[in-house]
Amino acid sequence: MTHSPRLVSFLLTVVLLPCAAVMAMYSPSAAGSPAPGALPSHSLQSVPSGQSPQAVTTVLRAATILDGTGLTLTDRDIVVRDGRIEAVVPAGEGRGTALYEFDQITLLPGLIDTHVHMEWHFDRSGKLRSRAVEETPEEAILYVAENAWVTLQGGVTTVQSVGSRSEAALRGAIERGLLPGPRILTSLGSIGGRNATPDELRSRVAQFAERGADVIKVFASASIRVGGTPTLSQEQLDAICGEARARGLRVVVHAHGPVSAQRTALAGCTAVEHGALLDRETLELLAERGLYYDPNIDLIFRNYFENKDRYLGIGGYTEEGFEQMRQAVPKALAVFQEALTVPGLKIVFGTDAVAGAHGRNYQELVYRSREGGQPPMDTIVSATSLAAESLGMDGEIGSIAPGLAADIIGTDGDPSRDITALGRVRFVMKGGRVYRNDPAQRQ
Ligand SMILES: [Zn+2]
Repeated sequence: MTHSPRLVSFLLTVVLLPCAAVMAMYSPSAAGSPAPGALPSHSLQSVPSGQSPQAVTTVLRAATILDGTGLTLTDRDIVVRDGRIEAVVPAGEGRGTALYEFDQITLLPGLIDTHVHMEWHFDRSGKLRSRAVEETPEEAILYVAENAWVTLQGGVTTVQSVGSRSEAALRGAIERGLLPGPRILTSLGSIGGRNATPDELRSRVAQFAERGADVIKVFASASIRVGGTPTLSQEQLDAICGEARARGLRVVVHAHGPVSAQRTALAGCTAVEHGALLDRETLELLAERGLYYDPNIDLIFRNYFENKDRYLGIGGYTEEGFEQMRQAVPKALAVFQEALTVPGLKIVFGTDAVAGAHGRNYQELVYRSREGGQPPMDTIVSATSLAAESLGMDGEIGSIAPGLAADIIGTDGDPSRDITALGRVRFVMKGGRVYRNDPAQRQ
């Protein structure tokens, strides 16, 4: 018999009964009810229609909880109410109307991927979406909704998408609470502007701000497929990041080589994305200036190689470009390993997930730890509390603490001991709602 996770809903009970008594009443064998995995949204269905599902108080009882800041808690109840974590108390002390009990499943904050492209998808030809195949906006947005679904099911409860216009509609639909997907922050597009004047760049930032962008995305270097050389001057980056700061917006900057990343740091932008060719001096400058560094060292490459036929011949995807990427893999790994030795450098989780990569964001984390040598707990922190801080949302998401949104996932096994457990997501709660609840596999 499987014991975890167990979902027990007893709305008529005001006071939570001791665990053993509840189990006797509600365990599948005793009550003859379906297996726990067959009740993935029982707590939602139990709520009378028209009533917010968050109105119930849910208790998540777990033997092992990673809080997202690097601490491991044992035998606790997480009390969830109105979509938020109300309390974390010793197991058995939580009071609520629904109980989920986990033993083999480890709970941790939902993962936060700070660099995805939610819109990217393969079209009905099976290849990367391009103008070669006609696609209606309705078809396109459904592909994006699929990306959102698989991302959430993979344990990622927040993404920063960098980004396209259609993501405003996606963000709105998910916020309304019925379309399942991660919380979406989007840049709604990006700024390149190689030949633009500083004034023109400032007005581009203003346009994105007025359209409701959560963040500004800038290209300050060429793609790694063509060498990653700088494409914006210091003056241009100063204009963009200065204007964004004045508007309270963060700026994440695509920069592969040292020069573009140094300019990014000196301009006071928020984060360097990719940085596959950085040197130690530049990494130290990022640390000194408090920038976040978002290396993408595995999933982006792995996915391109696995799906080469679906990309080749479209846009800039050429044989030469693929060769450049193959050569970049060991370089990106070496830069990451160097970055790990730079004191105070804030390395955050971002995958650069494009078509084919959505839903397996965790693979980047496994690689960072196993091949890169980052301790698993640090890897987890980079994808939870540190990622939240980089988004300016550390008071809202990224750790398991009272007052924060109840974005909590469960993995089969403890990822701080075995990082591959991140690939075995069995439970997903976002904002207090349960979107996934599979039984653990008994070994
Ligand atoms: Zn990207």
